[in-house]
Amino acid sequence: MATNEEVTVTMTYWVDDKQERVVMAEASGEFVDILFSFLTLPLGTITRLQSDNKFPGQLEIGCINNLYESVKDLSPDVFRSNMCQKMLLSPRNPLEGYCQRLKLKVDDTPPTKHFVCPTCSTGSNLWVSTFEGATCSCRKLMDKETELLEEGSKEGESGVFVRGNAMFLICDDLTILPGSPGNAVLPLRNYQLDAQPMEVQVDKNRILHILKQALTSQTPLTDVFLNPNQTSVRKTTPFYPFSRYTGSSNNFKGSVEIKVIMSKSENKIKFAETDGDFVDFLVSFLTISLGSILHLMNGRVSLGSIQNLYASVKNLDSSCFIGSSKKLLLNPGVAPQFGCKSIQVSALQEVPKYWYGVKSGTNSDEKKISKIRNMLRDPEEMKLFEPRCCDIDGARERAIGFMKRPCIFVVSDDLKVKTTANGRTTTTNATTSATNATTNTTSSIQYLRQQIQNNYKGTEPVDGFFDTRYRFFDTESILPD
Ligand SMILES: [Zn+2]
Repeated sequence: MATNEEVTVTMTYWVDDKQERVVMAEASGEFVDILFSFLTLPLGTITRLQSDNKFPGQLEIGCINNLYESVKDLSPDVFRSNMCQKMLLSPRNPLEGYCQRLKLKVDDTPPTKHFVCPTCSTGSNLWVSTFEGATCSCRKLMDKETELLEEGSKEGESGVFVRGNAMFLICDDLTILPGSPGNAVLPLRNYQLDAQPMEVQVDKNRILHILKQALTSQTPLTDVFLNPNQTSVRKTTPFYPFSRYTGSSNNFKGSVEIKVIMSKSENKIKFAETDGDFVDFLVSFLTISLGSILHLMNGRVSLGSIQNLYASVKNLDSSCFIGSSKKLLLNPGVAPQFGCKSIQVSALQEVPKYWYGVKSGTNSDEKKISKIRNMLRDPEEMKLFEPRCCDIDGARERAIGFMKRPCIFVVSDDLKVKTTANGRTTTTNATTSATNATTNTTSSIQYLRQQIQNNYKGTEPVDGFFDTRYRFFDTESILPD
């Protein structure tokens, strides 16, 4: 496929000159697929696009940027393995296979590659890693990249999530309706239909701009096509990054207790002192797709107009979609091997089984990998390398999270995460190392002093603060607010 920069998709829109807005747009399933792919993006991917300056102007989703920058700044040795930090900064798309087939890809995360050990790939000890730099149980680097055989798309089928040849109506607030004259009546009421339609070729930069506006504005199409240089949020739009959690607490499994330090005078949390469990929960936000955040919030997120896109997936008839893509878009979850076992915030995409063998119906003796057993002759089942497991020998069951234990973290109210003791809490005895961490005089006391100075401009004593404990998920749950 050609590179994204030169690829465009066609869209036609109608403008209301009096009100200077896009009243309605019309496009094929090809374009709607790209809009729906916004829901598959992990929050970490959106933040990475922002940090790589891919959007015009700034994009802030609550405090997620702070969380992302904290992960970037944390010392590599507070993570469970040397792959964890990269996994959080560049999370995989839970529907990667679908998104790879889009005409224009918003998610530019490199596609998953498959590696085997050059020595063990012929014996019975068959490991496959979807991460570069993994070490085999024989201690050699698993660096032999091997092709993954996949089923090609069915003959004559176009489209990724929706039928490619179908036409759709797109409202300025990203509500999507099936293309029909009847559906155009209401939005086009009071509008002179003799106005000329505008046909545009939408390129990747404009798609990224639509994504940004979808997260910040209720008129993304007007913003992008009529006011492209005005990158700020429309003043009339109330902007609440996240509404209060409104879903069922049944979505959450497990619980975690944290100690929070409150300021008496402000009656406000200044910071929380936590272990790896709570930080695992926080950083796992980066791996969760936007669609699953909306699923958790029952589709009610005051984040631009993205909830209209989500509602459109819900409301469009199943016949518009290909296979199970409607269900997948409503809760794309977290990519395989990126979830947290202890605190499961979102649906996990099932970890697939991998098989190793020669492609059926060929004479070549080169072995390949496939998730589909019968694509291979004499297939052998492979073991999947767990990227968050630092233990080389055996113990390769699914890791519980990203952060190393024991380790003490300090989390500020705006989700900046720091470690005390600079992460040097790697001794085997939990009690002693935890004590070492909290009594690291330089960092802990300096942090506290900084907090007090911020609070009282240095004139109030430490007793302006008190600590209390919170338990999450029993009755109350949190998401970035
Ligand atoms: Zn090996």
